[in-house]
Amino acid sequence: MTAGPRSKELYRRAVKLMPAGVNSPVRAFGSVGGEPLFYASASGCHVTDADGQRFIEYVGSWGPLILGHAHPAVVEAVRTAAGRGLSFGAPCEGEVELAELMIGTLPHLEMVRFVSSGTEAVMSAVRLARGATGRDDVLKFSGCYHGHADHLLVSAGSGLATFGTPSSAGVPSAFAAHTLVLPLDDEAALEQLFDERGRNLAAVIIEGIPANAGLLIQRPAFMKRLRELCTANGTLLILDEVITGFRVGPTGAAGIYGITPDLATYGKVIGGGMPVGAYGGRRDLMEELAPLGPVYQAGTLSGNPVAMAAGVATLRMLLANDGEAYGRLERLGAQLQRGIEEIFQRHGLGWRVARAGSILWLSLQDGEPPRRYEDIHPENAAIYARLHRALLERGIYLAPSAYEVMFVSAAHDEEAIGTTLEAFSGALAGALT
Ligand SMILES: *Cc1c(COP(=O)(O)O)cnc(C)c1O
Repeated sequence: MTAGPRSKELYRRAVKLMPAGVNSPVRAFGSVGGEPLFYASASGCHVTDADGQRFIEYVGSWGPLILGHAHPAVVEAVRTAAGRGLSFGAPCEGEVELAELMIGTLPHLEMVRFVSSGTEAVMSAVRLARGATGRDDVLKFSGCYHGHADHLLVSAGSGLATFGTPSSAGVPSAFAAHTLVLPLDDEAALEQLFDERGRNLAAVIIEGIPANAGLLIQRPAFMKRLRELCTANGTLLILDEVITGFRVGPTGAAGIYGITPDLATYGKVIGGGMPVGAYGGRRDLMEELAPLGPVYQAGTLSGNPVAMAAGVATLRMLLANDGEAYGRLERLGAQLQRGIEEIFQRHGLGWRVARAGSILWLSLQDGEPPRRYEDIHPENAAIYARLHRALLERGIYLAPSAYEVMFVSAAHDEEAIGTTLEAFSGALAGALT
């Protein structure tokens, strides 16, 4: 089941109207080949495309849909809120409820501000860090994605240079010059950089668990050392939990690693499928924001009542009964991981599935899954492309890129995962030949 006539027709129209026919690059299927499928509807762990073909899906809108597509309680909350007004541009109860849920769950979050995307949350948190410290430089890690703000579209410079080079046209090199880039998983490099430049570093930003270029699970010792070096140098630690927040557990990666960030960013799950981002952390830092302080940030649709309602409904269900949903996500994630690894073994492959709860990534290379972006073997993207297509033909929809992760939702069940594993076995046999 690849793109049918209706998807093809929509795509033909779309490419004339929008660059590559899409509004976010990876949707164009460029790295797996073939034409994108247009979705028509979705429910639970299933999506139905414009030709009426139905798939078990592991994208979940790239992370937000932890309860599955169109969860009835979330849809109902959105309907009710929409009937009361689509946007207020004034304070509303939903903002207070979502803030209370987040702050009541996350010990490091003393105050929060809502925005409309993860990109906006990260961009604003970095501005706040610079404003609060009076420093300009920020450090990021290669393989971490933080949205598309100019100063974070930066990749490692060549050779030993730690100053980044723009990874997108249109980013002035002067912006990139304030962004330093290091590999993940390397305490020695971190220590050297702090020795040389720690006093100019406003912030270090890192994904809670890097999940945008493979799934690069970090050692606790690395995260701990990072926290110590930040504290010792007056540098703020920004944990980007846009994917991991309320996904890998109720307290995100901060809870898993036992570290306290100064600021943290959220998105995806906290919006339950609606456009929401948030940043927050220490009260003294958050009080630097306008109108209390000198750091400006604003938004016409920030704290939107319909989006807040989706987020509140989602978090309430996730946190109900001591967060039992996370136990279910863990079991389902483990079932899928185990099943795929058994299939790899049956084919005589030493490949692994990296996993953090309900986030999984196919590490199509021998040995332990990599911890650094530089250790991912890019040549295996070709196998992924064949596997992706073979799975589509068998009714399983994975993200159309070898570097993207799979998301299991609470709407998946043992049966859906069983069906997926059966398809996987056949698809892999085809993809390897
Ligand atoms: C998705 C993501 C972002 C960007 O969020 P958008 O809502 O797509 O702007 C930022 N950081 C991380 C870690 C993400 O996964």
